[in-house]
Amino acid sequence: MSDNQQIAARVYDVSQLYASASGDIHWALRDVSLDIRDGEFVCAIGPSGCGKTTLLNMIAGFLQPTQGTVEAHGQTVRGPGPDRGVVFQEYALFPWLSARRNVEFGLRQHGASRKVMHEKAQQLLDLIGLTHAADRYPFELSGGMRQRVAVARALATEPQLLLMDEPFAAIDALTRATLQDELLRIWQKLSLSVFFITHNIEEAVYLAQRVVVMSPHPGRIEEIVEIDMPYPRNRGDAAFGAAYARISEVFARVGQEVNVA
Ligand code: ADP
Ligand code: MG
Repeated sequence: MSDNQQIAARVYDVSQLYASASGDIHWALRDVSLDIRDGEFVCAIGPSGCGKTTLLNMIAGFLQPTQGTVEAHGQTVRGPGPDRGVVFQEYALFPWLSARRNVEFGLRQHGASRKVMHEKAQQLLDLIGLTHAADRYPFELSGGMRQRVAVARALATEPQLLLMDEPFAAIDALTRATLQDELLRIWQKLSLSVFFITHNIEEAVYLAQRVVVMSPHPGRIEEIVEIDMPYPRNRGDAAFGAAYARISEVFARVGQEVNVA
């Protein structure tokens, strides 16, 4: 369908049923539909257990939905693919490989030659501002630097869609603000689509063009809030405060605890 060429990911009427060890079953997601448009920055936010990670894992191709369909770039998702890069909250780096080798690892899996791999890894390290730390090992890097390496590695296959599951949740506030700015710069420079999960309303309002607010039991989309503000955004603007208040209101309506840390 020509329509799908404008869509990075299409989640259509998806439900996910899980069984617990004791045999109870519950819907981690129920009848969820969402389009992520090409070049769009979408955040998903919601209390723990509302199915955010489940949704991201489906788009990544790590999990097949119990019901419904997921497409990425017009193709049904049947597994992970080079068109989708993934960054997790935990630093999913190999501790025995340098920053450079960690980035190269993402390329190795796609059969690139040594020379191409080396050049590409160098470009990615430059892009994320880690040129000087290329030969350090993860234990020699700060949390923020490790997440930059994780982003560079996720970009190694030149994905059009970047999927990020609370990538900055464990990072201190100052570093986190820098990483947010760098992510926005990379998003614009590479014309990526981004699906970014967060627990933090301020982060969502700073980053996203649309914020998907989810609620649990069963996991579903409560509301999608458009953030119609140009970049770079200013946290002190009245419009920023208004968007923040709007999302807080949706949380209050579903009666959930909100983590605004
Ligand atoms: P979130 O990322 O929003 O915190 P998750 O997608 O991780 O939510 O989980 C949604 C619901 O599904 C939760 O109730 C969670 O306990 C449950 N769940 C997640 N993964 C599994 C699994 N592999 N087996 C059983 N239940 C799961
Ligand atoms: Mg999660």
